[in-house]
Amino acid sequence: MPTFNDYGIILNSHDLGESDKILNIYTKENGLLRAVAKGSRKALSKFGGKVDQFSCCYFHFASGKNLSTVCDCEQINSFSLLRSDLHRLTNAVLFLEIVSNFAHEDEHDSHHVYDLLYESLNNLQKSTMPDKDSITFISNFLSLHGYKPQFDTCVHCSNEQQVMNNESLYLYSSILGGVLCIECARMIDHKQIKSSVINLLKQGTSEAGGRGDMRLTLDLLREHLDIRAKSKIKSFDLVLSL
Ligand SMILES: [Zn+2]
Repeated sequence: MPTFNDYGIILNSHDLGESDKILNIYTKENGLLRAVAKGSRKALSKFGGKVDQFSCCYFHFASGKNLSTVCDCEQINSFSLLRSDLHRLTNAVLFLEIVSNFAHEDEHDSHHVYDLLYESLNNLQKSTMPDKDSITFISNFLSLHGYKPQFDTCVHCSNEQQVMNNESLYLYSSILGGVLCIECARMIDHKQIKSSVINLLKQGTSEAGGRGDMRLTLDLLREHLDIRAKSKIKSFDLVLSL
């Protein structure tokens, strides 16, 4: 059976049989990988806490027909501080769900997404503003996938002018994923968005941006992601309820 090594972060898992787990792992070189960790639910398993959600390991895999097997793994980071704060934890679960939702097997350039996820979870561990970390993570994630909302020119006709109305509100189309000029906004469904929210979206981070603005920004990103994801991203409900 061919074997290979790769770095990976465990996105989620489910039980298999009496003592095994199937892990969904986002790996650095191979994108999404499903692998069974045999005996990992036994009390004295060699895997211990190494195959829990969030755990980042250097894995040794054996390739199988439908499923790889984890032969062994060395833990690099358990991101244990995420579990000490509910707000950080729910945002971390959101990161994993977003990556899982857009991930494919044998993904090209998966190391960019892997590196972003690793850095973002690591920063989130000590964050005092988890909402801001989520905005930054989602903006960067969308950029990597070519899905970043368009703000500088009209998303429909590329007009650079008049993407704001008289009250300095941006005209934003969720379906098209960007701002509209006043002309296009006459024909296309849109909502009006405060410039402080657009600034948060544009830069990923912002000097200003009170909590209300961050919530509005996250809500807009939620809509943007849900339209483009394989399925609705459920963790947003919990993140926005806290
Ligand atoms: Zn236009």
